[in-house]
Amino acid sequence: MKPTLEALLGRRSFIKQAGMAAAGASALGFATQADAEAALGQVNTSSKPSDLKITDVRVAQLVDAPMRVPLIRIDTNQGLTGWGEVRDGGSPTYALMLKSRLVGENPCNVDKVFRGIKQFGFHARQAGGVCGIEMACWDLAGKAFGVPVYQMLGGQFRDRVRLYADTTQSPDGTEAGRRLKERMDRGITYLKVDFGIELIRDIPEALSVPIGQTVRERSRTMHPFTGVEITDKGIELLEEYVGKIRDVIGMEIPLSSDHFGHIGVNSCIKLARAMEKWNLAWMEDMVPWQFGTLMKMIKDETTVPILTGEDIYLKEDFVKLIDMGAVDAIHPDLASAGGILETKKIGDYAMEHGVPMAMHFAGSPFSFMANVHCASATENFIALEHHSLDVPWWNDLVTPHPEIVDGFAVAPDRPGLGVEANPEVIKEHIEGEYFAPTPEWDHERSWDRLWS
Ligand SMILES: [Mg+2]
Repeated sequence: MKPTLEALLGRRSFIKQAGMAAAGASALGFATQADAEAALGQVNTSSKPSDLKITDVRVAQLVDAPMRVPLIRIDTNQGLTGWGEVRDGGSPTYALMLKSRLVGENPCNVDKVFRGIKQFGFHARQAGGVCGIEMACWDLAGKAFGVPVYQMLGGQFRDRVRLYADTTQSPDGTEAGRRLKERMDRGITYLKVDFGIELIRDIPEALSVPIGQTVRERSRTMHPFTGVEITDKGIELLEEYVGKIRDVIGMEIPLSSDHFGHIGVNSCIKLARAMEKWNLAWMEDMVPWQFGTLMKMIKDETTVPILTGEDIYLKEDFVKLIDMGAVDAIHPDLASAGGILETKKIGDYAMEHGVPMAMHFAGSPFSFMANVHCASATENFIALEHHSLDVPWWNDLVTPHPEIVDGFAVAPDRPGLGVEANPEVIKEHIEGEYFAPTPEWDHERSWDRLWS
């Protein structure tokens, strides 16, 4: 008999033997003996959480979701399985290289495990491995103790999480508006559109561009260094484009925006000012997040909310941007920011400074559920991105399906993240083997200490 079960049964027999069942249940905080029995039944008796150990880390490469996502599976010595994922587009190596550092650890010690591997994460996709492992550990801890992840974060501020969504792009503003209206018809209550210099690059006199600069060269150069500026004509064209969208969707629904192109900071200011009449919910990553001073220049010159964060790893750089007044709102991607707990800490810091938090997300239902639990438990949350509304099999990757009602995701009461893999469907949409063994990563070693 497992020690945990013995302990539970021991406590039950003590209560009964004393002939004080009701009083005993009451002393434990339960109204009736039946309630006490039911609550004790929530503990997974096949698992003793203090003895839970990681035994394996494997990946499967999901494709066309519509993004590529390395799914992570953590196995344990007690038959519990934890699910996570490397951020979309990231390498599975980011997770697999951690295997030898994780086997033998108790995944319930989520914070301790994360601090042990934190040094192997960095900004954007390079944080994908450590964040994916963190979400899988929360899944395991929740399953071992029989509670949903949001409960371990301190409980809920909301049980339904607002989603926001964009669509495929169209060069025609009216068509872009029609596609967004379809999202509204499906219940989505908060929208996003991408518009920028790629819409006007072939129109004469809309842009100033260094002669001979290619699109590829521009995409690899950070905004302040491309030498690209938008002309007054270009600003007018983009203003008309968003106006046509507003003609279709109306002025009331929040419309956020992204992907303006790699343009100079003064063009950013001109563009933002032109957009004020369209009441955008935010303009995102107008300059790279590393340039907080430039971001603050834009923010100080316009009434359109300025936002960044999807490529920032850990709280420290969010703190810098918030403290210097460079952002109206933040936008962490949980799979880059440091996982579930770090994202909540980021949200809580922003909350103290009156800064709201939207959440960037593109991935599978595993990371989606990690986001839903975090959003449920973080007070200043506004809306969570959903990038796969047009992928018909996306919900079928897991059982039960993520519950989405009227544009809101419901935070499930089930233990852990609240979903399990659906192998048949996942196997139809992966490249390579389904969670193949990874013995080649068993002995990856280095002297990891960061101090002497
Ligand atoms: Mg973005």
